[in-house]
Amino acid sequence: MIPPIASNFVAGETPETALAHVEELNENGVAAIVNLLGEHYEERAPADADANEYVELADLIAERGADACISVKPSQIGLEVGATAFEENLARIVDAADCFVWVDMEDHETTDVTLDAVERHTVETDGQVGVCVQANLKRTREDLERLADLPGKVRLVKGAYDEPAEIAYKKKARVDESYRDLLEFMFREFDDGVAVGSHDPAMIDLARDLHEEYGTAYEVQMLMGVRETEQYALADEVDVYQYIPYGSKWFSYFYRRVREQKSNALFALRAVVGR
Ligand code: FAD
Repeated sequence: MIPPIASNFVAGETPETALAHVEELNENGVAAIVNLLGEHYEERAPADADANEYVELADLIAERGADACISVKPSQIGLEVGATAFEENLARIVDAADCFVWVDMEDHETTDVTLDAVERHTVETDGQVGVCVQANLKRTREDLERLADLPGKVRLVKGAYDEPAEIAYKKKARVDESYRDLLEFMFREFDDGVAVGSHDPAMIDLARDLHEEYGTAYEVQMLMGVRETEQYALADEVDVYQYIPYGSKWFSYFYRRVREQKSNALFALRAVVGR
């Protein structure tokens, strides 16, 4: 059972509780990206089990007619077991899902294999598969040049992994500068596949300006529990997707959110001391 303080960031432990949250969001004009929590499996059985759950989740989304898609992590569906396990599970999910399938991006050692798999699937499904790329990685401009020629959407984020300085920008200001440059590239070169994965008001404003300049359609994606009032307000002008994690492995995700931002830590502390 998830304690109330964590339920701000995690939509329960089951597909049912996640879909109840999706329904509420949809009523407020916000779409959903549902993610089953889990990563770094070194054995095939849990990777297969999570892939099965994604297939069931996609069925449920279709059955309910929810405005929702799914997002999977490569190491959750077998990447650390081996390339075959990852490929087989991703193919199974993509073949079964009627909704859009996002592939999250993990640390830099997984970038090539993730992009290769996404390229194959997005071409085969004519754009029903999308991938996340990270502005803190120096290679991302080149990756975007490759992705610009493909169908499917691309989510630009600042990057959540602590990467070595030889391959990544380490200072926040430099990561922000890279995010701006890459976003401009995407609005200029992409045909309507731009997803702005950020809570940063400066990046949201920039996306609005770039949309006016280039006319490229875009969407904004934010996490459950972060700047939700702004998510609802933004949904009046642009497609907004909320990334909704759920599942029994909620603790480490919740802990990361709390550590990441002072306001979340204060929120959690207030809940604990009851004020
Ligand atoms: P920041 O520069 O961190 O923050 C800018 C401002 O946004 C802050 O000053 C604050 O006002 C607000 N803000 C940001 N985070 C919070 C918070 N937790 N609580 C309260 N306010 C906050 N990373 C990956 O490496 N791979 C992925 O696949 C991936 N997928 C993602 C999917 C989505 C939909 C989102 C939103 C993020 C994803 N990330 C992923 C995480 C991302 O890389 C960043 O670590 C994270 O989004 C924080 O960066 P930011 O752009 O929001 O801005």
